[in-house]
Amino acid sequence: MSQASPMLSVIVPCFNEAEVIEHTHQRLTGALEKITPDFEIIYVDDGSRDRTAELLREIQSSSSRAKVIRLSRNFGHQIAVSAGLEYARGQAVVLIDADLQDPPEVIADMMAKWREGFHVVYGQRTERSGETKFKLWTARAFYRLINRLSEVPIPLDTGDFRLMDRAAVDALLRMRERHRLLRAMTSWVGFKQTAVLYSRAERFAGTSKYPLRKMLALAIDGIVSFSAVPLKIVTSVGLAFSALSVLGIIYAIAQRLWTDNWVPGWTLIFIAVMLIGGLQFIFLGVMGEYIGRIYSEAKDRPLFLVMEELGFDQVRRATNQANGWLDADTFPLHPSARLRR
Ligand code: UDP
Ligand code: MG
Repeated sequence: MSQASPMLSVIVPCFNEAEVIEHTHQRLTGALEKITPDFEIIYVDDGSRDRTAELLREIQSSSSRAKVIRLSRNFGHQIAVSAGLEYARGQAVVLIDADLQDPPEVIADMMAKWREGFHVVYGQRTERSGETKFKLWTARAFYRLINRLSEVPIPLDTGDFRLMDRAAVDALLRMRERHRLLRAMTSWVGFKQTAVLYSRAERFAGTSKYPLRKMLALAIDGIVSFSAVPLKIVTSVGLAFSALSVLGIIYAIAQRLWTDNWVPGWTLIFIAVMLIGGLQFIFLGVMGEYIGRIYSEAKDRPLFLVMEELGFDQVRRATNQANGWLDADTFPLHPSARLRR
């Protein structure tokens, strides 16, 4: 590894975090300085519409440890983090939210585990203050469900707050899918993984950038990207209903041939038609989810676009290019909006 690569990179995705970002930077820097002098903090501005970008620029100009990438629009939390991963050069890389819900002090424990030889150290929440009952309940249901369905187990009650070794990060960078659930993807990578327990604090300021809609989208991504079980369920329910309808047909014919009460069957038929019609729509929807994903993966667009980067040097570019993460052809051609995959 080149000398210029720091030991620890910390990636902070920021979407409209103007209220917290300065405080976050101070607390994070404070915590990291106690761990190692050799760290970088990469702030990824995910298309914020408030003063976040401005504040990040100030932070960057006054701190040599801070680096900033600005995405060209809001790409979503998971993509923002992925962008950060691509820029990070540390031997160990930590993902942490901008709102201080994950205490930066826990990074020290993670580093200790890393030094013991673990490749992935994920933060596991023992309690979560300041979250609504609804959020807690849906989060729990989500983890139980995804573990039922998916081939790789995802540790319960973990978010994206985690440390990854360079080996795990490089592996992750090779996973190019657009629908990303990083916590599931890091699970998939394997290596030696362990947990560090912590209690998740309240948001320091501002409001959650994860409305129900985004939470649902994340849950569906997680389930559909890591399991074909929904498709299998569709098939078996379809088979069951076909079998039932064969019975129904035999019954109807028997009624018609050997009895004379075959007019009043209307109710039954009506219900059956409604039921099967409804099921078909649901199943079409499930198919659609997968086909839609095939479509968007097939388009193979860049995962994100960067419109500004601050604090990075040529060495990083050289290393990343050598590693093959950056597209060497487009790199020098579009200095302001480079396309990356
Ligand atoms: N975030 C982002 N892009 C988005 C939504 C969120 O980069 O489209 C960032 C946000 O700034 C924060 C982190 O992702 O640093 C987690 O978001 P938030 O705290 O709102 O989620 P919650 O903790 O409520 O699940
Ligand atoms: Mg939060």
